Amino acid sequence: MSRKHNFSAGPAALPTAVLELAQAEMLDWQGKGLSVMEMSHRSDEYVGIATAAEQDLRDLLSISDDYAVLFLQGGATSQFAMVPVNLMGAARSASYINTGHWSTKAIEEARRFGDVHIAASTEQQGFSFAPSQSQLALNSDAAYLHYTTNETIEGVQFDYIPATGNVPLVADMSSDILSAPLDVDRFDLIYAGAQKNIGPAGITLVIVKKSLLGNPIAGMPSMYDYQAHAIAESMNNTPPTYAWYLSGLVFKWLKAQGGLEAMAAVNHRKAAKLYAAIDATGFYSNRVALNNRSIMNVPFYLADQSLESKFTAEAERADLLNLKGHRSVGGIRASIYNAVTEESVDCLVSFMADFEKRWG
Ligand code: PMP
Repeated sequence: MSRKHNFSAGPAALPTAVLELAQAEMLDWQGKGLSVMEMSHRSDEYVGIATAAEQDLRDLLSISDDYAVLFLQGGATSQFAMVPVNLMGAARSASYINTGHWSTKAIEEARRFGDVHIAASTEQQGFSFAPSQSQLALNSDAAYLHYTTNETIEGVQFDYIPATGNVPLVADMSSDILSAPLDVDRFDLIYAGAQKNIGPAGITLVIVKKSLLGNPIAGMPSMYDYQAHAIAESMNNTPPTYAWYLSGLVFKWLKAQGGLEAMAAVNHRKAAKLYAAIDATGFYSNRVALNNRSIMNVPFYLADQSLESKFTAEAERADLLNLKGHRSVGGIRASIYNAVTEESVDCLVSFMADFEKRWG
């Protein structure tokens, strides 16, 4: 068996040790004679798996009892609607920061439910940086301020947490959650699709302050009501049991690596190596402001764009997979989430140098 270097933006690489453990437990989970996939979600065994996953996540992020932790379905995209329908309240207005493709999507969806005030947008500047605190036009009447901590496509990551006064802070952390320590107490709601740093696709994490629950817009289906999910401990209906289990294995793996500080150290090293390779000559370039360069998604261009398809094709032959940039921006993108090893990044960096030598 040979596992290749996977730079996919999502669904993304999972730690090999997690997949091996899942494989070992696949047919017979801990001597119970059945797979986790075949268990009732109400069984003691499965409730134990689910509870342990939540506790391990709470440990990793030091999440207090003031917050509910929900494991939902529908992807981060469903959260684009669930956030406004649960939090907009009677005023039906909220503020959003627009830093790229995914915040634009969140804004479009929120507009279906109320007034959206744009606190800042970097669209005119080609989504190449995150606005600073002083560039935010905050609206103290907004039900919340929403932002995307890391734009997966543009590779733009906030290097600070916006201060919002009394306005609740909501963050889409789909592509950088668990990449580094996080002060959850600064947020009122955090959400993330799992398929990058948490586990397989099909499960979505929501961490929400309990005090915000219980005020959804009228007529809301219960599957869209955070409080209903919180009361049912994310078992309002059959949850994505296997994805939840695998996410739990990833949380245990993260703890075994030394937790989020240890992950951050490796992630910063990986990103620094890759950006150094991009910046070394004019052959490659990254267009993002230095302080907002993402440590998870590294987009770059070749000076001669006609070489880009050759780059990805040759990379694939060298076992470096999924390096094509998102169709909306083109170029190359290497996603280097937690499960992408430093060795994979080293291989990419030496491939880049070799490619430049041959084609530069
Ligand atoms: N937000 C961000 C930052 C993302 O990267 C993505 C997916 N790439 C989404 C939202 C949408 O997630 P999903 O496909 O889980 O709905």
